[in-house]
Amino acid sequence: MKRLWALLRQRCPVCLQGQVFMSLFGMHTHCPVCGVKYERETGYFLSSMFIGYAAGFLMLAPTAVLLYFLDVSIPVFSLLIILETLILTPLIFRYARLIWMHADQVLDPRKPEEQEKIV
Ligand SMILES: [Zn+2]
Repeated sequence: MKRLWALLRQRCPVCLQGQVFMSLFGMHTHCPVCGVKYERETGYFLSSMFIGYAAGFLMLAPTAVLLYFLDVSIPVFSLLIILETLILTPLIFRYARLIWMHADQVLDPRKPEEQEKIV
């Protein structure tokens, strides 16, 4: 429950306190509280793209189905889907990475001595 709350508040997967993001798409390289490096290895966040694809589909599909049944024109359909994509992109980007980091921490916990500290 504590982890879920930390995930929703976009906090560090290790200490559950430090902020992960410093701007809309900009991430801290290390946790400002515990100092753990977020990118465990090169390409670490590639796996979060799968979460992002799935989340994007799950969020856009209901709108697409609704618009289909409302029988809107193709330009209106396209415009609304593009707008929704633009609005949801930061949310999906952030939560895909956060879900990936928290799931990875649960499945393969980092031990304190593995944590890289800011020098
Ligand atoms: Zn931390």
